[in-house]
Amino acid sequence: MAGDYDFVVLGGGSGGVRAARIASQHGARTAIVEEFRLGGTCVIRGCVPKKLYVYASRFADDFRDSAGFGWSFENARFDWPSLVAAKEKEISRLSAAYRANLEKAGVDIFETRGTFAGRGEIALGDGRRLRARHALVATGGRPHAGLDVPGIDLAIDSNRVFDLPKFPARLLVVGGGYIAVEFASLFARLGAEVALAFRADLPLRGFDADLRKAVADALARAGVALRAGVLPKAIRRDGDALAVALSDGSEKRFDQVLCAMGRAPNTAGLGLEGLGVALKANGAVAVDRYSATNVAGVHGVGDVTDRINLTPVAIREGHALADTLFGGKPTAVDHDHVPSAVFTTPELGTVGLSEEAARARFCVVDIHKADFRPMRATLSGSGDRTLMKLVVDGETDRVLGAHAFGDGAGEMAQLLAIPLRMGATKADFDATMALHPTAAEEFVTMRGPPARHLRAS
Ligand code: NDP
Repeated sequence: MAGDYDFVVLGGGSGGVRAARIASQHGARTAIVEEFRLGGTCVIRGCVPKKLYVYASRFADDFRDSAGFGWSFENARFDWPSLVAAKEKEISRLSAAYRANLEKAGVDIFETRGTFAGRGEIALGDGRRLRARHALVATGGRPHAGLDVPGIDLAIDSNRVFDLPKFPARLLVVGGGYIAVEFASLFARLGAEVALAFRADLPLRGFDADLRKAVADALARAGVALRAGVLPKAIRRDGDALAVALSDGSEKRFDQVLCAMGRAPNTAGLGLEGLGVALKANGAVAVDRYSATNVAGVHGVGDVTDRINLTPVAIREGHALADTLFGGKPTAVDHDHVPSAVFTTPELGTVGLSEEAARARFCVVDIHKADFRPMRATLSGSGDRTLMKLVVDGETDRVLGAHAFGDGAGEMAQLLAIPLRMGATKADFDATMALHPTAAEEFVTMRGPPARHLRAS
């Protein structure tokens, strides 16, 4: 036995690291087991490197737009290996910071795979065993292939796209979710010829329809070829390229095919079935509001539980669990009013209900919208538009949803989450002084009569 612990965490990502650190600070003897690199998906192959690549891509717009403001540039060129190397340096720094914080908090770190050998017993990849009074499954998720077509193994997923040795000059992105649209947007700006194939009529199913349309229009303006209702039927190697037969009967050549068709929870081979831990149909760990499974002493947080698969949610769940188990403060996480952003360019920021969701649930729904040319576009001449939208309960005046598509929309969504959570009404928005000249001021100056929708039944 390598150790006897109050708390053993499987998975060193956002949720697991936070839970371990707080538990240890509460006085629990804590260990964390991670088989890859500390930091998890967000830091190593998700949010952080993605946002760095989004920043890289936006210089293309800045260089182009600057001409309208009197600047001129010659020979601006982008070097992919430099970006990959700079990204690697930054995520290594962050991973080291995660380690330092865990060590500072007194958490023991085991860098190997951990699986359940029995109730309260974790088997390590190197043959050692840990005893755990409480164990936390925080093993996250991984991309799943999504399509079962010949040659799909030639495609890459979002784990591999960050470190491609060669820039993909012709890229097919398959899928219409967060990852697909973000990578389509950024690679187009970095100079790739990008096609985006997805099965629906618009990308980003589940988001407000007006914003989905705005994202599709912006992708098209950036030169992305949108192939709605089209998916690959077969992929084969053809010399240096990949020849992709598409469901519309065409065949096209690409340097890489990126499949971004959702993620699956990492529960296979952990020994959870042997313990009797209940799993959802997709393999996710089923937990209650306090992140407890049906088996005493076994808990789950983050993407592996497939509640809301976002980093801040995993962090909050991990923190709440540590407070519940070791801080004498039982804490359930509130999964309402979780803001999110899609980092296309411009970006989308959202909190609360879409118009479609509100109209399905509320009898009277008022829609306020502002659709305008952002100030920067007046001199740059770009075709960019900004869209803002408030979804209001027509009976109580409470704002149910706030959505933005434009520069800084992610930052706006973060702040809009506060009034929405507090139950702000449209009258509260109207009473708030504008800050001029900003785009966000539109949220407090939507004065015209709303479009009112009454539920049929
Ligand atoms: P999403 O769940 O967002 O999107 C999956 C996409 O794949 C959808 O367009 C879906 O189509 C499509 N799809 C799934 N199965 C099939 C199929 N069999 N045939 C055709 N199309 C299919 O997954 P992502 O991979 O983009 O991202 C995974 C998760 O990562 C997100 O849900 C999010 O939680 C997180 N994430 C968050 C980010 C952020 O906050 N900015 C950024 C990146 C990831 P359809 O819509 O028709 O169902």
